[in-house]
Amino acid sequence: AGEALEYDVCVVGGGPGGYVAAIKAAQLGLKAICVEGRGTLGGTCLNVGCIPSKALLNSSHKYEDATKHFADYGIQVDNVAIDVPKMMAQKEQAVGGLTKGIEGLFKKNKVKYVKGWGKVTGANEVTVATSEGGEEKVVAKNVVLATGSEVTPLPGVQIDEERIVSSTGAIALKEVPKKMVVIGGGIIGLELGSVWSRLGAEVEVIEFLPNIVPAMDHEVRRNFERVMKKQGIKIRLKSKVTSAVADADGVKLTVEPAEGGEQEHMEADVVLVAIGRRPFTEGLGLEDLGIEMDRGRVLVNDKFQTNVPSIHAIGDVIPGPMLAHKAEEDGIACVEHIAGKVGHVNYDTIPSIVYTHPEVAWVGKTEMELKSEGVKYKTGKFSMMANSRARTVDETDGIVKFLADKETDKILGVHIMGSNAGELIAECVLAMEYGASSEDIARTCHGHPTLSEAVKEAAMATYDKPIHS
Ligand code: FAD
Repeated sequence: AGEALEYDVCVVGGGPGGYVAAIKAAQLGLKAICVEGRGTLGGTCLNVGCIPSKALLNSSHKYEDATKHFADYGIQVDNVAIDVPKMMAQKEQAVGGLTKGIEGLFKKNKVKYVKGWGKVTGANEVTVATSEGGEEKVVAKNVVLATGSEVTPLPGVQIDEERIVSSTGAIALKEVPKKMVVIGGGIIGLELGSVWSRLGAEVEVIEFLPNIVPAMDHEVRRNFERVMKKQGIKIRLKSKVTSAVADADGVKLTVEPAEGGEQEHMEADVVLVAIGRRPFTEGLGLEDLGIEMDRGRVLVNDKFQTNVPSIHAIGDVIPGPMLAHKAEEDGIACVEHIAGKVGHVNYDTIPSIVYTHPEVAWVGKTEMELKSEGVKYKTGKFSMMANSRARTVDETDGIVKFLADKETDKILGVHIMGSNAGELIAECVLAMEYGASSEDIARTCHGHPTLSEAVKEAAMATYDKPIHS
């Protein structure tokens, strides 16, 4: 056993929650250490999530442009071909640069980094099985659990990461499958389905629920579903996969209606299981300490403390949206509390983004949520078709929809489908953080010609008429 160390904060997990918490702790003058088992920093997000998926979305988008759209602009290209290993190498380069970058940030901020798997062995103690094979005990005034999440398995379907893959295998395929079945019409399934569809795979999404991406506003979703189908992605709703068996030739699937009924057999080269993610706490020793959990999630108070006050938890492992930017906000607020300051995360203004093309982004309530809560609201909509920048860059598939309080005009939700929706939503998140009205956005000067003018005009439409429609 190694020597016992004294730290102010020991963060277990080096994902966007954990590494941000560790850096912020150090910036606040606390002695911080971060324990990470996977060998690289950045967690799910940088290694196998947000970053590699966005790299492949970018490459596949460029390929699709070259094969399908360049000709529309008078650009002639012949013999466009796809080199999957090279595409993967570019992705690895983006990932490697960023994960190494965090190591650099740790050094700069004097955060100690220990490679190994941590187990909480006391209210102030983490025991690390180090990557070198030894054991190290870390004694810390505060422990922050940031162990993230893992793929939710599907009963009857064995993931081998070759033919039956999770998102991790789907971002590392060696060749373009002829047919890919995606189980689960959520954000991850649609993003990765888009990647392979653009590269030439026949993609079919099988979703148990009556809708894809259930959290999306119904009206935007209708548009989004239409666009996905137009791009060639087949979507089968209210259906469940009851078995998928891989052999050397591919995968044989059995599908039936969600409520049960007649079975159907399908074949695919690759099946992507993307039914969701669940908190990861394996081997952490939380049961021994009596840490309160709810369906696998670690429960915390508004200072991110568990029922053992020195042990905190943040990110995907606690309740709330399982998103990298939410994990980061948790991390900062958590260590601000530890440092004796005030930290707060407003879970009502966490943006959600689908990085398909066009993108979909939203913040706040959907129209259906407002209806079911009995809130009186008004809507303002603007089509990207009427936005001059969207026309010039040929990105007219899209809509901006504002939901504002009927009496006060306070913004309650904004839903955007369109190119760069993920960037456009930022001003709406800020507006909501400030408790702004839609008129506040409408009376703010937006640059011309920009896509953001569509946001301004949709805001205008909630209380007045937009100019361009
Ligand atoms: P994680 O990132 O999961 O990090 C936890 C880390 O803890 C891991 O590295 C793990 O190895 C380590 N760990 C676990 N247990 C231990 C232990 N006992 N000891 C030491 N280390 C341990 N979110 C977005 O916001 N935008 C996106 O575009 C996006 N795209 C995604 C695409 C895919 C394909 C996937 C799978 C996810 C995506 N996400 C996205 C979700 C995002 O990755 C997570 O919400 C985010 O990574 C959660 O951060 P975290 O720090 O809580 O946990």
